[in-house]
Amino acid sequence: MSATTTLKLEQGLDPKNWETLRKLGHRMVDDMFSYLENIGEQPVWQAIPPEVKEAFAEPVPQEPEGANSAYEQFHRNILPYPTGNIHPRFWAWVSGTGSAGGMLAELLSGAMNSSGHGGDHAAVYVERQVISWLKQALGYPAEASGLLVGGGSMANFVGLAVARNTKPGWNVKTEGLANRENPLSVYCSTETHSSVVKAVELLGLGSNGLRQIEVDGNFRIRVDHLRQAVAADRASGKRPICVVGNAGTVNSGAIDDLTALADFCREENLWFHVDGAFGAIPAISPRLRPLLRGMERADSLAFDLHKWMYMPYDVGCALVRFPQHHRDTFAYGAAYLNSQTRGLAGGPEWFSHYGLELSRGFRALKVWFSLKEHGLQTYQALVEQNVAQAQYLGELIAGDRRLELLAPIPLNVVCFRYRGNLEDEATMKQVNQEILLRLQESGVAAPSATVIGERFAIRVANVNHRTRREDFDILVREVLRLGSEISGGH
Ligand SMILES: *Cc1c(COP(=O)(O)O)cnc(C)c1O
Repeated sequence: MSATTTLKLEQGLDPKNWETLRKLGHRMVDDMFSYLENIGEQPVWQAIPPEVKEAFAEPVPQEPEGANSAYEQFHRNILPYPTGNIHPRFWAWVSGTGSAGGMLAELLSGAMNSSGHGGDHAAVYVERQVISWLKQALGYPAEASGLLVGGGSMANFVGLAVARNTKPGWNVKTEGLANRENPLSVYCSTETHSSVVKAVELLGLGSNGLRQIEVDGNFRIRVDHLRQAVAADRASGKRPICVVGNAGTVNSGAIDDLTALADFCREENLWFHVDGAFGAIPAISPRLRPLLRGMERADSLAFDLHKWMYMPYDVGCALVRFPQHHRDTFAYGAAYLNSQTRGLAGGPEWFSHYGLELSRGFRALKVWFSLKEHGLQTYQALVEQNVAQAQYLGELIAGDRRLELLAPIPLNVVCFRYRGNLEDEATMKQVNQEILLRLQESGVAAPSATVIGERFAIRVANVNHRTRREDFDILVREVLRLGSEISGGH
């Protein structure tokens, strides 16, 4: 049998008719602009009806349904049920808003489909440029290395991995951690984000290797307690390697005394990592940067661009002050990854030598595009605006005796509850939980919840460029109305 008799008609994934797909593409772009333009008129969130959930249980499509049909289904079953974080009254967790220009940049990077692992092509240079801009914007040392990652969790992992490989005093890359007499320990406050706990566990230190230190009345790490803990651990044969400082805790936006932590780490020869997932970003503003004094001294810094820089998901950044330690932690030689001095595999040091991932998307383009589109000044103004809006909400709460503020507002996070005439804690918790659920289910607003000193708190984290002060007027009005309704006029 000759080869030609078994040769099938060759095919690919490009459209059979480019004009048809082009038309659909134009319609999509138009639809999505209208969608974003009018997003404030939609409910913040709505529950997915059971029949729509059923559609998500359909088996894998065997036959082509076509792009037009897929788009119709997207319109019917997917688009009406977003998280809500693009809406002006969404303040749950710390979820960024994205932007219309960012959406277009995603289209461009989707078309190029470059892999950012390394090589001599534009995506690599754009990422290098963006990292350099971010260092300038935050006031972090220019000699630092860095890479874009999926988010703050991965950025914390990268920083802590470099700490773990650099500080123990033996070659962790070859020797690992097994059979070592001195267990490594890492320090942070009780307010530190769970991604730090996760990273410490995955790096083989065990959650027992993470010492969570008490906080003061402003939810900042007690540096005196930290000092005692490190001394006690050294005395008992542990090997302290790293302190994690918070630049903006997830609960209340508290900022640790980063200068005191930097001093302490220098005295004690410890790695100083800062989790600044959202709270590092105010350093771009000359007016707010003093709040973060000491952050520029961190040995590694983790922050997100998809939270308080309003970039589309997902993109975060890890910076490391010592490029050699950074590279030593992740670089790997493999024949199939040989870099060259010329050709496609030439160019600068590969990004895959600075992180866990090899294939990586072209995340840098949306960062580059957004900063070009709006300029850093716009981001400075927006971050200041969010902080001022949080103060405004704080004033509304403080000005009404039916409401109670549960934590200071150092940045953009506001924790409060309805009190009315309620007396006991259990009822207050029930009522506030119900207020929160009804706010979300009615589609009016989406704060989230947390617990502040055993008190149930309605929590607003404002990283939203679409929010206006009136949106907080609406929130407060609704909380008061629902509080009175649920507590039967109390
Ligand atoms: C969101 C957040 C993280 C995790 O970042 P992701 O981008 O969600 O992975 C870490 N620390 C703090 C303080 C955060 O707010």
